[in-house]
Amino acid sequence: MDSDSTFSIIKPDAVSKGYAGRILARITDAGFTITALRMVRLTRQQAEDFYYVHRERGFYRGLVEFMSSAPVIVMVLRKANAVEEFRRLIGSTDPACADQGTIRADFATDVQKNAVHGSDSPENAGREASFFFPAIEIF
Ligand code: UDP
Ligand code: MG
Repeated sequence: MDSDSTFSIIKPDAVSKGYAGRILARITDAGFTITALRMVRLTRQQAEDFYYVHRERGFYRGLVEFMSSAPVIVMVLRKANAVEEFRRLIGSTDPACADQGTIRADFATDVQKNAVHGSDSPENAGREASFFFPAIEIF
């Protein structure tokens, strides 16, 4: 995946609270184009596989439990310098530290239930996008 695409998830907390529409509006208002989108409920196994890089971290079990607890919205987004621009739009992992006006500052509950995922590199964006979408479903 080139550096102009990133991968995102609207997490169970935000979908359950009815924030998906407002979060999608923030994303498109910030100049991102949605190039793939689907609602899905992750199995525990799929959540474990998606977050495999964090398997040694203390928060891993809770994260897997949370991410498989309810439906999420997965998507691929396009904009120049998408990975960095999207991380700026969502703010810090812990919403208590997130800049004012960021998606996490406005919609997250806590450091785990932080409303959205955003890839941290173009390489991971490609890996994460292909976890959910075949190439022919990314427009
Ligand atoms: N997380 C958590 N506790 C922590 C740190 C992270 O529950 O102390 C969760 C949180 O949902 C976060 C995800 O694990 O979004 C992945 O962590 P990472 O450090 O990659 O943060 P992100 O890249 O999402 O900002
Ligand atoms: Mg991360």
